Amino acid sequence: MKTIDTYFQTNYEASRKVFRDNLETIKKFWPKARLATQKIGNGTDNTIDMIHAEATESNDQVLFFTTGEHGIEGYAGAAVTSLFIEEYADKLDPKTTGICFIHALNPWGMRNFRRVTENNVDLNRNYLVDPSSVPEDINKAYENEEELFLPAGNIVNLSRERRKLQAQLVKALAKEGYSGITAAKGMGQFQFPRGVYYGGDKEEESAVFLKDVQKKLLSHYNRIIHMDWHTALGPSNEVTMVVSDNDERETEQLKEQYNLKNIQKFSPENVKGDSTSHFHAIKNRDFADKYLFSALFEFGTFGTDLKASIREFMTIILENHLYWDGAENEDDMEKILDEFRAMFYPVERNWRQSVVSEARLAIEAVLETENIFKSAVKI
Ligand SMILES: [Zn+2]
Repeated sequence: MKTIDTYFQTNYEASRKVFRDNLETIKKFWPKARLATQKIGNGTDNTIDMIHAEATESNDQVLFFTTGEHGIEGYAGAAVTSLFIEEYADKLDPKTTGICFIHALNPWGMRNFRRVTENNVDLNRNYLVDPSSVPEDINKAYENEEELFLPAGNIVNLSRERRKLQAQLVKALAKEGYSGITAAKGMGQFQFPRGVYYGGDKEEESAVFLKDVQKKLLSHYNRIIHMDWHTALGPSNEVTMVVSDNDERETEQLKEQYNLKNIQKFSPENVKGDSTSHFHAIKNRDFADKYLFSALFEFGTFGTDLKASIREFMTIILENHLYWDGAENEDDMEKILDEFRAMFYPVERNWRQSVVSEARLAIEAVLETENIFKSAVKI
Protein backbone atom coordinates (compact mmCIF):
# COMPACT_ATOMS: atom_id res chain seq x y z
CA MET A 1 0.00 0.00 0.00
CA LYS A 2 1.24 3.48 -0.87
CA THR A 3 1.52 6.35 1.58
CA ILE A 4 -1.18 9.02 1.39
CA ASP A 5 1.10 11.63 -0.20
CA THR A 6 1.81 9.59 -3.30
CA TYR A 7 -1.85 9.77 -4.35
CA PHE A 8 -2.16 13.56 -4.39
CA GLN A 9 -0.22 15.36 -7.11
CA THR A 10 0.78 19.01 -7.09
CA ASN A 11 0.14 19.82 -10.74
CA TYR A 12 -1.87 18.69 -13.74
CA GLU A 13 1.01 17.17 -15.69
CA ALA A 14 2.22 15.06 -12.76
CA SER A 15 -1.33 13.81 -12.20
CA ARG A 16 -1.75 12.97 -15.89
CA LYS A 17 1.56 11.07 -15.91
CA VAL A 18 0.49 8.93 -12.94
CA PHE A 19 -2.80 8.24 -14.73
CA ARG A 20 -1.11 7.27 -17.99
CA ASP A 21 1.32 5.00 -16.14
CA ASN A 22 -1.65 3.13 -14.64
CA LEU A 23 -2.23 1.58 -18.06
CA GLU A 24 0.49 -1.00 -17.41
CA THR A 25 -1.19 -2.22 -14.22
CA ILE A 26 -4.56 -2.38 -15.94
CA LYS A 27 -3.09 -4.42 -18.77
CA LYS A 28 -2.29 -7.20 -16.31
CA PHE A 29 -6.03 -7.80 -16.06
CA TRP A 30 -7.28 -6.40 -19.38
CA PRO A 31 -4.42 -7.02 -21.86
CA LYS A 32 -6.15 -5.03 -24.58
CA ALA A 33 -6.68 -1.90 -22.49
CA ARG A 34 -5.90 1.31 -24.39
CA LEU A 35 -5.07 4.87 -23.53
CA ALA A 36 -6.76 7.56 -25.63
CA THR A 37 -5.69 11.19 -25.46
CA GLN A 38 -7.79 14.06 -26.77
CA LYS A 39 -6.58 17.64 -26.97
CA ILE A 40 -9.09 20.12 -25.54
CA GLY A 41 -9.33 23.88 -26.02
CA ASN A 42 -6.73 26.43 -27.07
CA GLY A 43 -3.78 25.35 -24.91
CA THR A 44 -1.14 23.23 -26.62
CA ASP A 45 -1.07 20.46 -24.06
CA ASN A 46 -4.41 20.24 -22.31
CA THR A 47 -5.83 16.78 -22.82
CA ILE A 48 -8.56 14.50 -21.62
CA ASP A 49 -7.03 11.06 -21.09
CA MET A 50 -9.09 7.91 -21.06
CA ILE A 51 -8.20 4.31 -20.32
CA HIS A 52 -10.78 1.92 -21.72
CA ALA A 53 -10.85 -1.86 -21.84
CA GLU A 54 -13.78 -3.93 -23.01
CA ALA A 55 -14.58 -7.17 -21.20
CA THR A 56 -12.47 -10.01 -22.58
CA GLU A 57 -15.43 -12.36 -23.26
CA SER A 58 -18.79 -10.66 -22.97
CA ASN A 59 -19.59 -6.99 -22.35
CA ASP A 60 -22.09 -7.54 -19.54
CA GLN A 61 -21.12 -4.45 -17.59
CA VAL A 62 -18.67 -1.58 -17.35
CA LEU A 63 -17.32 0.42 -14.45
CA PHE A 64 -16.96 4.06 -15.50
CA PHE A 65 -15.07 6.76 -13.53
CA THR A 66 -15.03 10.43 -14.49
CA THR A 67 -12.80 13.02 -12.80
CA GLY A 68 -11.98 16.70 -13.13
CA GLU A 69 -15.29 17.85 -14.58
CA HIS A 70 -14.67 20.80 -12.29
CA GLY A 71 -10.96 21.21 -13.07
CA ILE A 72 -9.30 21.59 -9.66
CA GLU A 73 -11.55 18.86 -8.20
CA GLY A 74 -9.76 16.42 -10.53
CA TYR A 75 -6.77 16.05 -8.18
CA ALA A 76 -8.86 14.13 -5.66
CA GLY A 77 -10.57 12.24 -8.49
CA ALA A 78 -7.22 11.16 -9.92
CA ALA A 79 -6.13 10.01 -6.46
CA VAL A 80 -9.26 7.85 -6.20
CA THR A 81 -8.66 6.38 -9.67
CA SER A 82 -5.12 5.32 -8.69
CA LEU A 83 -6.40 3.94 -5.41
CA PHE A 84 -9.01 1.92 -7.26
CA ILE A 85 -6.54 0.47 -9.73
CA GLU A 86 -4.16 -0.49 -6.95
CA GLU A 87 -6.64 -1.97 -4.51
CA TYR A 88 -9.69 -3.12 -6.47
CA ALA A 89 -8.82 -3.84 -10.12
CA ASP A 90 -8.06 -7.48 -9.29
CA LYS A 91 -11.48 -7.88 -7.68
CA LEU A 92 -13.36 -7.42 -10.96
CA ASP A 93 -13.94 -10.12 -13.53
CA PRO A 94 -12.35 -8.99 -16.83
CA LYS A 95 -14.27 -11.69 -18.71
CA THR A 96 -17.58 -9.93 -18.12
CA THR A 97 -16.63 -6.47 -16.91
CA GLY A 98 -15.06 -3.61 -18.85
CA ILE A 99 -13.51 -0.50 -17.34
CA CYS A 100 -13.40 3.08 -18.53
CA PHE A 101 -11.53 5.75 -16.55
CA ILE A 102 -11.33 9.42 -17.53
CA HIS A 103 -8.63 11.79 -16.25
CA ALA A 104 -9.44 15.54 -16.29
CA LEU A 105 -12.63 16.22 -18.22
CA ASN A 106 -11.71 19.89 -17.83
CA PRO A 107 -7.92 19.85 -18.24
CA TRP A 108 -7.49 23.65 -18.49
CA GLY A 109 -9.33 24.08 -15.18
CA MET A 110 -7.25 21.37 -13.53
CA ARG A 111 -3.99 22.84 -14.82
CA ASN A 112 -4.95 26.34 -13.63
CA PHE A 113 -6.63 25.27 -10.37
CA ARG A 114 -10.00 26.66 -11.46
CA ARG A 115 -13.37 24.88 -11.43
CA VAL A 116 -14.52 26.24 -14.76
CA THR A 117 -13.22 25.80 -18.30
CA GLU A 118 -11.15 28.37 -20.19
CA ASN A 119 -14.47 29.82 -21.37
CA ASN A 120 -15.57 30.35 -17.76
CA VAL A 121 -18.11 27.54 -18.14
CA ASP A 122 -19.23 25.31 -15.29
CA LEU A 123 -19.04 22.11 -17.33
CA ASN A 124 -21.69 20.44 -15.19
CA ARG A 125 -24.25 22.97 -16.46
CA ASN A 126 -23.28 22.51 -20.12
CA TYR A 127 -24.88 19.17 -21.01
CA LEU A 128 -28.22 20.26 -22.33
CA VAL A 129 -30.21 17.60 -24.13
CA ASP A 130 -32.13 20.30 -25.95
CA PRO A 131 -30.41 23.70 -25.52
CA SER A 132 -33.30 25.55 -27.20
CA SER A 133 -35.60 24.49 -24.35
CA VAL A 134 -33.75 26.58 -21.77
CA PRO A 135 -34.70 30.26 -21.82
CA GLU A 136 -31.67 32.49 -21.39
CA ASP A 137 -33.15 34.22 -18.36
CA ILE A 138 -34.12 31.01 -16.58
CA ASN A 139 -32.39 31.95 -13.31
CA LYS A 140 -34.50 34.76 -11.83
CA ALA A 141 -32.87 34.83 -8.41
CA TYR A 142 -29.47 35.14 -10.05
CA GLU A 143 -30.69 37.96 -12.24
CA ASN A 144 -32.11 39.77 -9.21
CA GLU A 145 -28.80 39.45 -7.40
CA GLU A 146 -26.47 39.86 -10.35
CA GLU A 147 -24.45 42.48 -8.47
CA LEU A 148 -23.51 39.75 -6.00
CA PHE A 149 -22.38 37.20 -8.56
CA LEU A 150 -20.58 39.38 -11.11
CA PRO A 151 -17.06 40.83 -10.86
CA ALA A 152 -16.90 44.61 -10.54
CA GLY A 153 -13.44 46.12 -10.86
CA ASN A 154 -9.98 45.53 -9.49
CA ILE A 155 -9.80 44.24 -5.86
CA VAL A 156 -8.08 47.03 -3.96
CA ASN A 157 -8.48 45.84 -0.39
CA LEU A 158 -9.57 42.28 0.40
CA SER A 159 -10.91 42.97 3.91
CA ARG A 160 -13.07 45.77 2.55
CA GLU A 161 -14.15 43.58 -0.36
CA ARG A 162 -15.14 40.78 2.03
CA ARG A 163 -17.19 43.14 4.20
CA LYS A 164 -18.96 44.48 1.14
CA LEU A 165 -19.66 40.99 -0.16
CA GLN A 166 -20.90 39.80 3.22
CA ALA A 167 -23.29 42.74 3.44
CA GLN A 168 -24.53 42.02 -0.09
CA LEU A 169 -25.00 38.35 0.81
CA VAL A 170 -26.96 39.14 3.95
CA LYS A 171 -29.18 41.49 1.95
CA ALA A 172 -29.68 38.91 -0.80
CA LEU A 173 -30.47 36.24 1.80
CA ALA A 174 -33.09 38.48 3.37
CA LYS A 175 -34.66 39.18 -0.02
CA GLU A 176 -34.44 35.82 -1.79
CA GLY A 177 -34.22 33.57 1.26
CA TYR A 178 -31.50 31.00 1.79
CA SER A 179 -33.15 28.56 -0.58
CA GLY A 180 -33.46 31.28 -3.23
CA ILE A 181 -29.74 31.94 -3.18
CA THR A 182 -28.72 28.29 -3.17
CA ALA A 183 -31.23 27.69 -5.97
CA ALA A 184 -29.57 30.46 -7.99
CA LYS A 185 -26.33 28.56 -7.62
CA GLY A 186 -27.74 25.08 -8.32
CA MET A 187 -29.57 26.07 -11.47
CA GLY A 188 -26.61 27.79 -13.08
CA GLN A 189 -27.08 30.75 -15.40
CA PHE A 190 -26.81 31.35 -19.12
CA GLN A 191 -26.77 35.15 -19.29
CA PHE A 192 -23.53 36.43 -17.79
CA PRO A 193 -20.36 34.96 -19.34
CA ARG A 194 -18.14 36.46 -16.63
CA GLY A 195 -20.38 35.45 -13.75
CA VAL A 196 -20.10 32.42 -11.50
CA TYR A 197 -22.09 29.24 -12.33
CA TYR A 198 -22.16 30.12 -16.06
CA GLY A 199 -23.42 27.23 -18.23
CA GLY A 200 -22.11 28.60 -21.55
CA ASP A 201 -23.81 29.58 -24.80
CA LYS A 202 -22.53 26.59 -26.78
CA GLU A 203 -21.31 23.08 -26.11
CA GLU A 204 -17.83 22.88 -24.64
CA GLU A 205 -15.41 20.47 -26.35
CA SER A 206 -15.26 18.51 -23.11
CA ALA A 207 -19.04 18.10 -23.12
CA VAL A 208 -18.99 16.85 -26.71
CA PHE A 209 -16.31 14.34 -25.71
CA LEU A 210 -18.21 13.05 -22.67
CA LYS A 211 -21.54 12.82 -24.50
CA ASP A 212 -19.86 10.65 -27.10
CA VAL A 213 -18.40 8.36 -24.42
CA GLN A 214 -21.79 8.11 -22.69
CA LYS A 215 -23.37 6.95 -25.96
CA LYS A 216 -20.60 4.46 -26.71
CA LEU A 217 -20.80 2.87 -23.29
CA LEU A 218 -24.59 2.61 -23.51
CA SER A 219 -24.33 0.94 -26.89
CA HIS A 220 -21.52 -1.49 -25.94
CA TYR A 221 -22.56 -2.68 -22.48
CA ASN A 222 -25.74 -3.96 -20.85
CA ARG A 223 -25.03 -2.34 -17.50
CA ILE A 224 -23.13 0.90 -16.88
CA ILE A 225 -22.01 1.79 -13.37
CA HIS A 226 -20.79 5.37 -13.30
CA MET A 227 -19.00 7.16 -10.45
CA ASP A 228 -18.26 10.86 -11.06
CA TRP A 229 -15.74 12.19 -8.51
CA HIS A 230 -16.01 15.73 -7.07
CA THR A 231 -15.01 17.76 -4.01
CA ALA A 232 -16.47 20.39 -1.64
CA LEU A 233 -20.10 19.45 -1.09
CA GLY A 234 -21.43 17.72 2.02
CA PRO A 235 -20.13 17.16 5.56
CA SER A 236 -16.39 17.86 6.03
CA ASN A 237 -14.08 14.90 5.53
CA GLU A 238 -16.93 12.60 4.51
CA VAL A 239 -18.15 11.29 1.18
CA THR A 240 -21.63 12.18 -0.08
CA MET A 241 -23.32 10.31 -2.90
CA VAL A 242 -25.44 12.64 -5.06
CA VAL A 243 -28.11 11.03 -7.23
CA SER A 244 -30.48 12.66 -9.68
CA ASP A 245 -34.25 12.26 -9.59
CA ASN A 246 -33.93 9.95 -12.58
CA ASP A 247 -33.33 7.34 -9.94
CA GLU A 248 -36.79 6.75 -8.53
CA ARG A 249 -35.63 5.33 -5.22
CA GLU A 250 -36.13 7.50 -2.14
CA THR A 251 -33.12 8.78 -0.20
CA GLU A 252 -33.83 6.48 2.76
CA GLN A 253 -34.08 3.46 0.51
CA LEU A 254 -30.80 4.38 -1.20
CA LYS A 255 -29.10 4.77 2.18
CA GLU A 256 -30.23 1.31 3.16
CA GLN A 257 -29.32 -0.34 -0.13
CA TYR A 258 -25.89 1.24 -0.49
CA ASN A 259 -25.15 1.42 3.22
CA LEU A 260 -23.85 4.98 2.90
CA LYS A 261 -24.49 7.68 5.50
CA ASN A 262 -24.68 10.72 3.22
CA ILE A 263 -26.92 10.57 0.17
CA GLN A 264 -28.55 13.56 -1.53
CA LYS A 265 -30.97 13.69 -4.42
CA PHE A 266 -31.37 16.55 -6.85
CA SER A 267 -33.94 17.27 -9.51
CA PRO A 268 -33.14 18.24 -13.12
CA GLU A 269 -35.85 20.87 -12.58
CA ASN A 270 -33.50 22.68 -10.20
CA VAL A 271 -30.18 21.90 -11.85
CA LYS A 272 -29.82 22.60 -15.56
CA GLY A 273 -27.39 20.85 -17.87
CA ASP A 274 -25.66 18.41 -15.51
CA SER A 275 -23.89 15.42 -17.05
CA THR A 276 -25.71 12.75 -15.01
CA SER A 277 -29.15 13.89 -16.17
CA HIS A 278 -27.86 13.93 -19.74
CA PHE A 279 -26.62 10.36 -19.34
CA HIS A 280 -30.07 9.24 -18.11
CA ALA A 281 -31.90 11.18 -20.82
CA ILE A 282 -29.87 9.49 -23.59
CA LYS A 283 -30.36 6.12 -21.96
CA ASN A 284 -34.13 6.61 -21.68
CA ARG A 285 -34.39 7.92 -25.23
CA ASP A 286 -32.13 5.53 -27.15
CA PHE A 287 -31.15 2.65 -24.88
CA ALA A 288 -34.23 1.91 -22.79
CA ASP A 289 -33.29 -1.75 -22.28
CA LYS A 290 -29.93 -0.92 -20.68
CA TYR A 291 -29.21 -0.45 -16.96
CA LEU A 292 -27.54 2.76 -15.82
CA PHE A 293 -26.36 3.72 -12.35
CA SER A 294 -24.80 7.20 -12.39
CA ALA A 295 -23.96 9.26 -9.32
CA LEU A 296 -21.64 12.00 -8.13
CA PHE A 297 -19.38 11.42 -5.17
CA GLU A 298 -18.33 14.50 -3.25
CA PHE A 299 -15.62 14.78 -0.61
CA GLY A 300 -16.81 17.51 1.78
CA THR A 301 -14.55 20.38 2.82
CA PHE A 302 -16.14 23.44 4.52
CA GLY A 303 -19.20 21.57 5.83
CA THR A 304 -22.93 22.07 5.60
CA ASP A 305 -24.02 24.76 8.07
CA LEU A 306 -25.03 28.31 7.13
CA LYS A 307 -21.57 29.64 8.02
CA ALA A 308 -20.00 27.13 5.64
CA SER A 309 -22.44 28.07 2.87
CA ILE A 310 -21.59 31.75 3.21
CA ARG A 311 -17.89 30.90 3.15
CA GLU A 312 -18.45 28.87 -0.05
CA PHE A 313 -20.26 31.73 -1.78
CA MET A 314 -17.58 34.22 -0.78
CA THR A 315 -14.79 31.89 -1.93
CA ILE A 316 -16.29 31.21 -5.35
CA ILE A 317 -17.32 34.81 -5.97
CA LEU A 318 -13.94 36.23 -4.91
CA GLU A 319 -11.94 33.76 -7.01
CA ASN A 320 -14.00 34.63 -10.07
CA HIS A 321 -13.65 38.34 -9.33
CA LEU A 322 -9.87 37.96 -8.98
CA TYR A 323 -9.66 36.02 -12.24
CA TRP A 324 -11.40 38.71 -14.27
CA ASP A 325 -10.34 41.94 -12.58
CA GLY A 326 -7.19 41.09 -10.59
CA ALA A 327 -6.10 42.42 -7.19
CA GLU A 328 -3.75 45.26 -6.40
CA ASN A 329 -2.06 43.48 -3.55
CA GLU A 330 -0.10 40.23 -3.88
CA ASP A 331 -1.12 39.07 -0.37
CA ASP A 332 -4.80 39.52 -1.16
CA MET A 333 -4.36 37.49 -4.31
CA GLU A 334 -2.73 34.63 -2.40
CA LYS A 335 -5.38 34.68 0.32
CA ILE A 336 -8.16 34.36 -2.26
CA LEU A 337 -6.42 31.49 -4.05
CA ASP A 338 -5.55 29.70 -0.78
CA GLU A 339 -9.18 29.84 0.31
CA PHE A 340 -10.29 28.50 -3.08
CA ARG A 341 -7.85 25.62 -2.73
CA ALA A 342 -9.06 24.98 0.82
CA MET A 343 -12.53 24.51 -0.63
CA PHE A 344 -11.67 22.20 -3.56
CA TYR A 345 -8.22 20.68 -2.94
CA PRO A 346 -7.12 21.15 0.66
CA VAL A 347 -3.51 20.44 1.57
CA GLU A 348 -4.41 19.16 5.06
CA ARG A 349 -3.30 15.63 5.68
CA ASN A 350 -6.47 14.62 7.52
CA TRP A 351 -8.63 15.69 4.57
CA ARG A 352 -6.50 13.69 2.15
CA GLN A 353 -6.61 10.70 4.47
CA SER A 354 -10.37 11.01 4.58
CA VAL A 355 -10.55 11.08 0.77
CA VAL A 356 -8.75 7.74 0.66
CA SER A 357 -10.78 6.06 3.40
CA GLU A 358 -14.13 7.51 2.29
CA ALA A 359 -13.42 6.60 -1.34
CA ARG A 360 -12.94 3.00 -0.24
CA LEU A 361 -16.32 3.14 1.51
CA ALA A 362 -18.05 4.54 -1.58
CA ILE A 363 -16.34 2.15 -4.00
CA GLU A 364 -17.16 -0.90 -1.88
CA ALA A 365 -20.75 0.26 -1.34
CA VAL A 366 -21.40 0.74 -5.05
CA LEU A 367 -19.48 -2.26 -6.35
CA GLU A 368 -21.11 -4.58 -3.85
CA THR A 369 -24.65 -3.29 -4.32
CA GLU A 370 -24.28 -3.25 -8.11
CA ASN A 371 -22.67 -6.73 -8.19
CA ILE A 372 -19.47 -5.59 -9.84
CA PHE A 373 -17.14 -7.61 -7.64
CA LYS A 374 -16.22 -11.12 -8.77
CA SER A 375 -18.78 -13.35 -7.12
CA ALA A 376 -16.24 -15.30 -5.09
CA VAL A 377 -14.67 -12.20 -3.61
CA LYS A 378 -15.63 -10.98 -0.18
CA ILE A 379 -13.78 -7.99 1.18
ZN1 LIG B 1 -17.75 19.42 -8.69
